[in-house]
Amino acid sequence: MNFNKKLQDIKTYEAGKPIELVVRDFGIEPSEIVKLASNENPYGCSPKVQAEVANIVQKMALYPDDSMFELKSALAKKFSLEDENVIIGSGSDQVIEFIMHAKADENSKILMNSVTFAMYEIYAKHIGASVVRTASQEHNMNEFYELYKAEKPDIIFLCTPNNPTGDAIDAQEMMEFIAKVDNSTLVVVDGAYMEYAAFKDKSKSVSPKELIEKFENVIYLGTFSKAYGLGGMRVGYGLSRGNIIKELYKLRPPFNITTLTLKAATVALEDEAFVNNCIASNFTEMKRYEEFAKEQKIDIIESYTNFVTLCLNDTQNATQLSDALLRKGMIVRNLTGYGLNAIRVTVGTPEQNSKFFALTQELL
Ligand SMILES: *Cc1c(COP(=O)(O)O)cnc(C)c1O
Repeated sequence: MNFNKKLQDIKTYEAGKPIELVVRDFGIEPSEIVKLASNENPYGCSPKVQAEVANIVQKMALYPDDSMFELKSALAKKFSLEDENVIIGSGSDQVIEFIMHAKADENSKILMNSVTFAMYEIYAKHIGASVVRTASQEHNMNEFYELYKAEKPDIIFLCTPNNPTGDAIDAQEMMEFIAKVDNSTLVVVDGAYMEYAAFKDKSKSVSPKELIEKFENVIYLGTFSKAYGLGGMRVGYGLSRGNIIKELYKLRPPFNITTLTLKAATVALEDEAFVNNCIASNFTEMKRYEEFAKEQKIDIIESYTNFVTLCLNDTQNATQLSDALLRKGMIVRNLTGYGLNAIRVTVGTPEQNSKFFALTQELL
């Protein structure tokens, strides 16, 4: 059977291995398994979310509120924007998909960093658009500008902080770059880890409101999957000018967010103290990773997120190490597929991190 030719050279996105799979494949007890592979919040979500979600379980027979009024206005309020500036997706992943279909076609070029979030390329390929990448591992705004001038892309993805490397773009430099981009090019600022960057270093902190007020060709993406601890709920958002949001709405399937998810996200947003505490613990624990890397003579990329990227030396092999860790019930991300001899490890709870250090030391 023949399928859509555009899909032929897509490498299926490989998600972090679920705990259930390690139980099945290696016969390890679920309680013995530590998953530090998908940048989830190791402390879970606000306890208030759990209480509220339990309360609305009896409403399951009804379709969700498709206007998403409650969550939309909570987001608008948080960012000092209007409801018309917000679109909600089943993960910010879905918003990326809307953006691609709304703005690009098979003649388009999509500009992105050499190493960055894999879904940008996968969605670009869905529509047959071509991908243009910079050479530097970290976002270099001069290089982005040169490629922008040479290639005239329809969409530019800026992932800050960047997944899977953890580095972040200087906010001022980014604003100066966007100011030089013509309004016919859409700039996507993916802030999946922005809560962490804003906590660590104000100079990396990007304000969606400022972006949207200054520029008519920018969309900012956020998610509840990381700092808010709701990866299992699948919810993210896009913030932009009303006319752009309106175009994306044409692609949104009705009821793309469940009643449970809408409630969970709304309540999670209210509990700022919970999220701030998790972020503070994240950076306390991250220091231990920095010390561990130093002891082991492994390079670590300075991270503005809830994960660290350990760049192994020539005598070490990322695939071997991550496989060996997996057999011991420790799930991390092997970055060999991104062209790096590196592993990405989500910063876990103190106990989870201790276990990672002990196992890794033993294996190296
Ligand atoms: C996790 C992540 C997302 C989206 O996650 P969803 O769970 O789909 O909201 C988007 N961009 C980056 C860079 C991410 O790491």
